[in-house]
Amino acid sequence: MAAACIFCKIIKGEIPSMKLFESDKTFAFLDINPLSKGHALVIPKHHGEKLTDIPDDSLAELLPVAKKIALAAGAENFNILQNNGRIAHQVVDHVHVHMIPKPNETEGLGVGWPSQ
Ligand code: IMP
Repeated sequence: MAAACIFCKIIKGEIPSMKLFESDKTFAFLDINPLSKGHALVIPKHHGEKLTDIPDDSLAELLPVAKKIALAAGAENFNILQNNGRIAHQVVDHVHVHMIPKPNETEGLGVGWPSQ
C-alpha cells in the first residue's frame, strides 16, 4: 500500500467506491468517470505503478475478474484496456485494468483512447 495512492485508499475504504468484487489479492469498482455504463476498474491490492512492477501472482485474477464483471453486466461487447505510463494515457499510478462495455457500435471511447 502507498499512503498517497487514491486506489490504495479505495481498497482501504478511505475513499468511497462502488465496489464490485474483492478478494485477498484483487479489488474492483466502478470508474468515477465512466466511458460507458458499467465501466469498471480491476486492480491488484499490491501497489505498483506499472504492470512490470507487479508480481505475477497478484496479476493472475485481473482478467478472470474483468470477465466475471462483464458477464454480470451483460456486456456482450466490451474493451479491456490497461495503460502504462503517461504517453500511454495512464493517469492513476496504481495498475488497473479497465472493462469498458460497448453498448453499440457508434459509441466512441473519447479522445486519446486506442479504439476510437
Ligand atoms: P488511466 O488513464 O488508465 O490511468 O485511468 C484512470 C481511471 O481512473 C480513469 O478512468 C478515472 O476516471 C478513474 N478514476 C480516478 N479516480 C477515481 C476514483 O476515485 N474512483 C473511481 N475511478 C477513478
